[in-house]
Amino acid sequence: MTGKTHITGGIAASLAFAQVSHYEPAILLIGGVAGALIPDICHGSSKIGRSLPIVSKLISTLFGHRTFTHSLLFLLLMTALFQAVLPNEALAAGILVGMISHIVLDMATKRGVKLLFPLRVTVRLPFTTSTGSFVEHLVFAALSVLSVYFGYALFNFS
Ligand SMILES: [Zn+2]
Repeated sequence: MTGKTHITGGIAASLAFAQVSHYEPAILLIGGVAGALIPDICHGSSKIGRSLPIVSKLISTLFGHRTFTHSLLFLLLMTALFQAVLPNEALAAGILVGMISHIVLDMATKRGVKLLFPLRVTVRLPFTTSTGSFVEHLVFAALSVLSVYFGYALFNFS
């Protein structure tokens, strides 16, 4: 999935989560967008990879693409890290929701993700698409509509 789809996925997921949580929606949203970008630190050409080239190179050399940073282990470690260093619970929750949305979207691609890393099992959804395809554009459109829908319910734009 492209960065654009991931960002929209993070927005839709964090706003959906905001409907059922007591956290401040605006903070969840900021976390959701950030979290949607974090897993692709393993790709040097991704948005986050280009802003942090050294970290990105290190992670892709050590683990490869779509492995450690797209796994349940990584989510657990990040949760523990946030509890230790991030005093803002809403921001931490938003980032986690954004990361989960990223991993689920990548599971909808043919390449899948190594969700159970360090186990080398590829996990993907029963229906998959390829990055930049027509179906991805449809997914992007659907996520955009969901974002507007959830955003409208939360912020009551008029
Ligand atoms: Zn990814």
